[in-house]
Amino acid sequence: TPVRKSPGLIQNIFNYKALNLAHSIRKRSLPIFPYREDLLAAIRDHQILVIEGETGSGKTTQIPQYLLEDGYTNGGMKIGCTQPRRVAAMSVAARVAQEMSVKLGNEVGYSIRFEDCTSERTILKYMTDGMLLREFLTEPDLASYSVIIIDEAHERTLHTDILFGLIKDIARFRPDLKVLVASATLDTERFSCFFDEAPVFRIPGRRFPVDIYYTKAPEADYLEACVVSVLQIHVTQPAGDVLVFLTGQEEIEACCELLQERCRRLGSKISELIVLPIYANLPSDMQAKIFNPTPPGARKVVVATNIAETSLTIDGIIYVIDPGFCKQKSYNARTGMESLIVTPCSRASANQRAGRAGRVAAGKCFRLYTAWAFKHEMEETSIPEIQRTNLGNVVLLLKSLGINDLIHFDFMDPPPHETLVLALEQLYALGALNHLGELTKVYKCSEEILTIAAMLSVNNSIFYRPKDKVVHADNARMNFVVPGGDHMVLLNVYTQWVESGYSTQWCFENFIQFRSMKRARDVRDQLEGLMDRIEVELSSCSGESAVTAGYFYHTARLSKGGYKTVKHQQTVFVHPNSSLFEEQPRWMIYHELVFTTKEFMRQVWSRPSLSF
Ligand code: ADP
Ligand code: MG
Repeated sequence: TPVRKSPGLIQNIFNYKALNLAHSIRKRSLPIFPYREDLLAAIRDHQILVIEGETGSGKTTQIPQYLLEDGYTNGGMKIGCTQPRRVAAMSVAARVAQEMSVKLGNEVGYSIRFEDCTSERTILKYMTDGMLLREFLTEPDLASYSVIIIDEAHERTLHTDILFGLIKDIARFRPDLKVLVASATLDTERFSCFFDEAPVFRIPGRRFPVDIYYTKAPEADYLEACVVSVLQIHVTQPAGDVLVFLTGQEEIEACCELLQERCRRLGSKISELIVLPIYANLPSDMQAKIFNPTPPGARKVVVATNIAETSLTIDGIIYVIDPGFCKQKSYNARTGMESLIVTPCSRASANQRAGRAGRVAAGKCFRLYTAWAFKHEMEETSIPEIQRTNLGNVVLLLKSLGINDLIHFDFMDPPPHETLVLALEQLYALGALNHLGELTKVYKCSEEILTIAAMLSVNNSIFYRPKDKVVHADNARMNFVVPGGDHMVLLNVYTQWVESGYSTQWCFENFIQFRSMKRARDVRDQLEGLMDRIEVELSSCSGESAVTAGYFYHTARLSKGGYKTVKHQQTVFVHPNSSLFEEQPRWMIYHELVFTTKEFMRQVWSRPSLSF
């Protein structure tokens, strides 16, 4: 029977076809395209291949599609591609689904912690490196995969480094498994060397010259300097979008607000400036906006973390503003202290950042530091994460995979011996390992701890504090304060929300972000599912003693001017956001230390009976 098509439908079909055509033209114009056949041949000839290519050349989005077209998913096999960053995994999967005209989560999907957007049908799977590590628990030989792509290998995240060792191992007894190690143009010889002299396939990029400008003197306030630079570019420079590198959500939001405010004040004196943030916790609909083409006459400014350094490529960037900082985890094995510190980025990072300005045309990079600082104050490259992190979780993971001899694990860069020993010591003291170094089962208070863990995972975005209602918001927050500290406050918020029947209205009235609560609930459900799978019964107690037992390493005692950690006598402070900021109890337990302006304890907890 003939179907009567409405003009709207015909228009849609037409748009759809046009979109497909546009995609196929775009795909063919990427630098990787001319190398398609050679690349596939090299993959056929070698089990392990290192692929080096300029950022934006098409490695992440195109290679999995080429492999699919070449038959690597026949027989229901999957192609897996790891990303160090959640945002990248999501965004790239969405892009590839769009290019292939399939619904995200069907043939193309992604899996990140607490969010699995895949199905039975998924054959191209993007995931964080941490998620692939977890898959080893259920599928130790990764039997359902025909190809594993370890992407962004140059980032050398902790999880990627561990994957290197595990995958090198399984590749020996799975000759049919193809392993691709993809990296920006950094350090590829080292990967080749680690993987028994695997060949390196180089994809020449297209690069336009980038002029680099330094400041004459160091900037006292780089955030303000960024704002001024963006506005200067906007009023004095020809068309082209701007990319600004900052270190995290707070800075990025502050920068975006300042920019919007100043633009409002300038009003119609300047042309339109579209200000867009991008960072890990940004909701995905907001993330997608950075890729929208800039309308003629306007200029786009993307304010990003170093996610935009190599993981995501935004077309149309001509100007880069680089204050020269990034947030880095750092670990002191002597004190056992882990902290997140804003540090100068490496020269390699700075050069990657600058390179982002030269993808579509000649560009300019404004470095908000001196040429001297670039030469003398920045490291050549950054130190792999495995050498600056607490290895507790790594040890637990490897042990649960049955890898007991950690000293001889095949690390590309082994962690310092003392860090490994310290991790074993701590886990033994916590009761997670027995005297034979085997995993134990200790679970108590799981009900409360599940909630607290779930709330901690979304912690930075639970309380809503709009600028025009600061007083109300702070009052609402004070109402949740219970004795015990921030962990108990989080538990209290969650419990009350459950009692409200997971109400949106309740969130609204109490200045709580509904979206974050919903996420905490998802996380909690998933954790509960995991506990169920490994047959751990939920038990309930006050929750307080469990926090003490689990965090006894993180104890601090009140001393003049602040607190001193018990183990190492380091001076630390209560964060002004904490429910215990005013109270200043004699003893405290903290969730983590964060170094911003000084060494702050985040999420602190105390109770009167706490004594040692
Ligand atoms: P590489 O991995 O080599 O750095 P990618 O495959 O990530 O390169 O990017 C190839 C091209 O695809 C770039 O031009 C980039 O701008 C584009 N692209 C990637 N993701 C998206 C997206 N979500 N939306 C629009 N364009 C995208
Ligand atoms: Mg990539």
